[in-house]
Amino acid sequence: MMERPWRNILLLLALLQVTQPTAAFSVYRRSASFHGSSLQSTKSRPSEVDVTDTQTDQWLKESLEHEDHLVVVVGPKNVLVYDTSLRDGTQGEDVAATCDDKLKITRRLTSFGVDYIEAGWPGSNPKDAEFFERAKTELASEERAKLVAFGSTRRKRVQAKDDAQVQALLESQAPTVCLVAKSHAWQVEEILKATREENLEMIRDTVSFLVQQGRRVFVDLEHFFDGYKSDPEYSLKCAEVAADAGASCLVLCDTNGGSMPWDVQTICNSVVTHFGGLKTIGIHTHNDCGMATANSLAGAQAGVGLIQGTINGIGERTGNADLCSIVPTLSLHMKSNMTCGNNLAELTKLSRFVDEQLNRSPNNAAPYVGASAFAHKGGLHVAAMERSPLSYQHIQPELVGNEKRVLVSELSGRVNILGKIEEVGMQWGDEITNERATAILNRVKALENKGYSFEGADASVHLMILHATKGYCPPFHVLDYAANVHDSNMDSASRVLSWNAKREEADGSKQQGATSRATIKVRTVNQDPDSDVVFEERLEVADGTGPVDALSIALMKALTPAHPYLRSVELVDYKVRILDPTSATEAATRVMIEFRDTSSDKTWTTVSVDRNVISASLNALTDGLEYALIEHASMCMLCDDDGTYMH
Ligand SMILES: [Zn+2]
Repeated sequence: MMERPWRNILLLLALLQVTQPTAAFSVYRRSASFHGSSLQSTKSRPSEVDVTDTQTDQWLKESLEHEDHLVVVVGPKNVLVYDTSLRDGTQGEDVAATCDDKLKITRRLTSFGVDYIEAGWPGSNPKDAEFFERAKTELASEERAKLVAFGSTRRKRVQAKDDAQVQALLESQAPTVCLVAKSHAWQVEEILKATREENLEMIRDTVSFLVQQGRRVFVDLEHFFDGYKSDPEYSLKCAEVAADAGASCLVLCDTNGGSMPWDVQTICNSVVTHFGGLKTIGIHTHNDCGMATANSLAGAQAGVGLIQGTINGIGERTGNADLCSIVPTLSLHMKSNMTCGNNLAELTKLSRFVDEQLNRSPNNAAPYVGASAFAHKGGLHVAAMERSPLSYQHIQPELVGNEKRVLVSELSGRVNILGKIEEVGMQWGDEITNERATAILNRVKALENKGYSFEGADASVHLMILHATKGYCPPFHVLDYAANVHDSNMDSASRVLSWNAKREEADGSKQQGATSRATIKVRTVNQDPDSDVVFEERLEVADGTGPVDALSIALMKALTPAHPYLRSVELVDYKVRILDPTSATEAATRVMIEFRDTSSDKTWTTVSVDRNVISASLNALTDGLEYALIEHASMCMLCDDDGTYMH
């Protein structure tokens, strides 16, 4: 083994740590054997690596050539944002992404401006290998330039060049490779069952092989914080070996998520000082104690210049560090410079887009990007907010692309309703406005008493205000409807298996479930090309898998000829809650339906309560479509004094 000049320094460090375990006294000296470059250079690679005789293609060379990241990045002034939603994020229990989803998310992350996108582990599964294969032709060069392939150091007794998993990293053609390496002495000996020196050799060999092949290499030092607490000398040794072999960034990982922010800050400070501006130090945290964001920021405060995390904090167990909290906090509260800092107003959209692609329901309570992040309910707060929006908000929601919401509920004061009237854009004059606000508030309180809940149903409040407006003409009326259910195959859990078996045996057919048929009669209001108001009645019938489905299809059939815009509206969520279960089948039922405009991605929710679940559903459905037309298709018609309609 080569003798390292910092051995004495480490001994000194070990001595110092007897009295002050995390003191920032140690200093890293780069080995003279490291490509012969000068100690003062802040460029770690690839300028030091001759890539001309490798198999690397032209594109890869170009993407590595213009890199301003060669400069060592020190937080919190400057921070690189490294997204691992598509690799560590997909380890989350309810997260699954197809290759198409991953390509779409990569494009979106690129346009948002994250610096690195860790997209998968090509050596571990065919889906990730397929991603990197398709990325070569389907992603634009600026998107591919951000890609990181994740992998691990080579196996114990195999040369890096002969390790299939390491070869897969090269074949991915990702310009950056991130290698996970063990950096906790106990984990090395007891879990990996390797000697300490074997592990160092695995790091050294794998990093230097990939660097020689022209790749930028980051090293995720697994269990670093836990390892450092029990044996700082060995954990630092792992980092030094990686640095010496040419790694550009040393990423300290809180793999088990059990570290506290004050320890993270002290240890990061020691490591940043130790490498004395010669290497960018990164951090990768997990949220097992709810500390992932705090730990990442503590790291940045101590000089860490690269933060790994995921959109919406998705990831294994309780998730990874949430970039949707970290990025705006760095930018707005810590004044850090980040490439994506200019696109902060796109953050809420990015968060919803990723949830949508991964088929997850957004977390309303998420900081910055959640629907409730700037929602105000208490009358006192709302009154104060009227005086200054910052009285109960830490930032202006528009900075992160979110919006302030005034919630209307029985706890509301009149000022909540006034706020809502202003949002809807009604101008009635002060006296009428105050009168109507009181009337609407009384109605809200009476309805909430019956089981309505307007907090999550802004669209219903919006309609209530419009319906209180003299001359408001809804774009359609439902005149009558009927729904019936036909079922010739009564099933219960105990009958279904035997029935299926018999039926399939008899005629090979599959079981038919219950079918429903609905009829609906609607009067639509529209304008013809001469701007004359046209009323039209339509009677439609439709079959569906249940009565609400059948009604929804029939209603759409009746409305779309007059209002084709509705084709871009879809139902996202349908929630039914029994309000007084003691009344058994006569119980009042609350239905909340969430809608989405597929062209603008906007969502809205309506609510209705009735003892008849079908009526409650149809009312909520009708409200949602009426709201769609007045809000998104500018179909709001008012009747002026002489009885003519105007838009
Ligand atoms: Zn992780």
